[in-house]
Amino acid sequence: MSYEHQRQAMIIDQLRSRGIKDERVLDAMGRVPRHLFVQQDLQDRAYEDSALPIGEGQTISQPYMVALMTELLELKGDERVLEIGTGSGYQSAVLSLLASEVYSVERIGPLAVKARNVLKGLGYNNVQVIVADGTIGLPEHAPYDGIIVTAGAPGTPSQYMDQLRINGRLVIPVGSRHSQVLYQMIKTHAGTEKNVSTACVFVPLLGKEGWTDPETY
Ligand code: SAH
Repeated sequence: MSYEHQRQAMIIDQLRSRGIKDERVLDAMGRVPRHLFVQQDLQDRAYEDSALPIGEGQTISQPYMVALMTELLELKGDERVLEIGTGSGYQSAVLSLLASEVYSVERIGPLAVKARNVLKGLGYNNVQVIVADGTIGLPEHAPYDGIIVTAGAPGTPSQYMDQLRINGRLVIPVGSRHSQVLYQMIKTHAGTEKNVSTACVFVPLLGKEGWTDPETY
């Protein structure tokens, strides 16, 4: 089956069948060539229903998780979005088709360089990849309409809500090193509305306001 066919099967069998409804999200994931965001020997597995290794002990998230988190941002097209955890750059590419400006922060330099090159090569020109500790957000470009955290946090880093606009959404997995709960938090005039989505497993968010010891499980 061609990659294009595998991608369309992914949309139907993994995303629509599990309740992803936002047509813009489905369309974007039907267009981004996910196989180009994984290493060559794993390209044949790129459209499988799973996360895959991308080097440096990190992973590209399962397609369903990318779709669900993106849907929870409720993007219309004119937003400025911050992603924490660039990894392969795949989630950034999906966001680039759904928002007007995307900033993505990655703590591991070589992953950021690779993602930047793939994104540039494919023409996703509204994405900027920055090497930094994303647990403090990215104050230079705040406020954001959406913040998406693609690594598991021990709690919600304090600056994320401050860097969101009113009505902005934060999508973040919070929990232990081994399992988390995905939350959608909406910033309102009155405070924060917190919605629980689903149980999930992400690699740890490491840094100042994340997990501080990579060896501690
Ligand atoms: N969104 C990615 C998933 C990457 S996995 C994709 O589509 O491929 C999570 C990534 O978060 C890893 O690359 C990891 O290095 C990164 N990460 C962990 N802690 C971080 C931090 N404090 N700041 C920035 N990136 C971080």
